[in-house]
Amino acid sequence: LKRSEDNLRSPICCIMGHVDTGKTKLLDCIRGTNVQEGEAGGITQQIGATYFPAENIRERTRELKADAKLRVPGLLVIDTPGHESFTNLRSRGSGLCDIAVLVVDIMHGLERHTIESLNLLKMRNTEFIVALNKVDRLFGWNTCKNKPIVKAMKKQSNDVRNEFKRRVTQIITQFKEQGLNTELYYKNKEMGEIFNIVPTSAISGEGIPDLLLLLVKWTEKTLVEKLMFTNEIQCTVLEVKAIEGQGTIIDVVLANGVLHEGDQIVVCGTQGPIVTTIRALLTPHPMRELRIKGSYLHHKELKAAQGVKINAQGLDHAVAGTGLYVVGPDDDVEDIKEATMQDMKSVMSRIDKSGAGVCVQASTLGSLEALLEFLKSPAVNIPVIGINIGPVHKSDVRRACAMLERKKEYGTILAFDVKVTPEARELAKENGEDKKRETSGEAVFPCRLKIMPDCVF
Ligand code: GDP
Ligand code: MG
Repeated sequence: LKRSEDNLRSPICCIMGHVDTGKTKLLDCIRGTNVQEGEAGGITQQIGATYFPAENIRERTRELKADAKLRVPGLLVIDTPGHESFTNLRSRGSGLCDIAVLVVDIMHGLERHTIESLNLLKMRNTEFIVALNKVDRLFGWNTCKNKPIVKAMKKQSNDVRNEFKRRVTQIITQFKEQGLNTELYYKNKEMGEIFNIVPTSAISGEGIPDLLLLLVKWTEKTLVEKLMFTNEIQCTVLEVKAIEGQGTIIDVVLANGVLHEGDQIVVCGTQGPIVTTIRALLTPHPMRELRIKGSYLHHKELKAAQGVKINAQGLDHAVAGTGLYVVGPDDDVEDIKEATMQDMKSVMSRIDKSGAGVCVQASTLGSLEALLEFLKSPAVNIPVIGINIGPVHKSDVRRACAMLERKKEYGTILAFDVKVTPEARELAKENGEDKKRETSGEAVFPCRLKIMPDCVF
């Protein structure tokens, strides 16, 4: 298949920002309104991701621009910005998301996690748009449901407009302090140099048409090369979940290429590369049927960009945050196996060779890497002898217990965002150091990862 401008994939957009700025609500707003309008099958809620077909975006943006021509098939929005797979600083190559929406509360301005998100975007050189949310909170705001923002502003009193201006100016200054030029998008004469701000309300929908259109238009304008569809698989494991009666299922984001039922795949596992065959490719039902719990649509094949559930054998030890590869007819499985393990290898190389240190366990490779980095920093400087991804099992406790005899203070498992099996907990208790120690506060990382040793044995 030839790459061409006439065959673009959906851009992948991730929503970032400080807690409570309205990230989830923004997505609810876009989805919800469409459901109320009875947009049957229009929007599909996906795993950790929502797919907005182009027709849907055109409908939502008609009042803003009636003749908008969209070249992408849709927009895949990742509504779980907390996913480590996305915030993994060291993720291979380009990372998963093509563009980001950085949500800022107009009443609060830039907050701690806004700045962390910003640094991450800068580091990765990712395009982004600022959604200046909660404009309806401006005192005296006159609700103009789902209106384009300029139209909505025209309906406001002078007081509201002045207050709006004052706050926007302040926030633009705050961005400048972070080394970034920003401007309201409808005033921005130097798009590309100056980042766009779109004022929005996730409650009454003002500015939502602007945000949607700008997202699509801006990605089409600046990322065409990146968005040209290819058959080359680009796929990342988001989550690894054990589902009763079905074994282990992985949620992936397919950023490029096509996946088929029956494809032979290779994923990175904590015990080595996993070679298996796709038994089922699943996505949830369209919006209206979402309430039917646990029922998914089966697909023979799926084209990027999509959020997909994959059912296959032997996925128990798959590592979230790593790449998924498909073995093609001309591929050498051994080469692919090696490629899948690259991410894991770089983490493995950080393990202390002296034989004395703590054990570290996390839910994804991304959070594990961040934890290791934290422990290695001069201020902390704690050696690590063992790592694992996923729940803490008895064997993990056994490994940590062995350290009790050598260096008591290292007989510890630092676990982040993982479950501890009852047997593992029991074994830890038997070995004396039973109490959950007080957590030593939390360390916040540039990748907005919170480290909370939530089960320190
Ligand atoms: P998140 O933590 O960024 O995902 O924020 P949420 O979407 O959970 O929103 C946090 C709170 O702010 C909730 O109580 C929302 O109802 C409220 N909220 C979000 N967006 C808006 C908005 O545009 N206007 C107003 N007035 N409240 C909002
Ligand atoms: Mg949220």
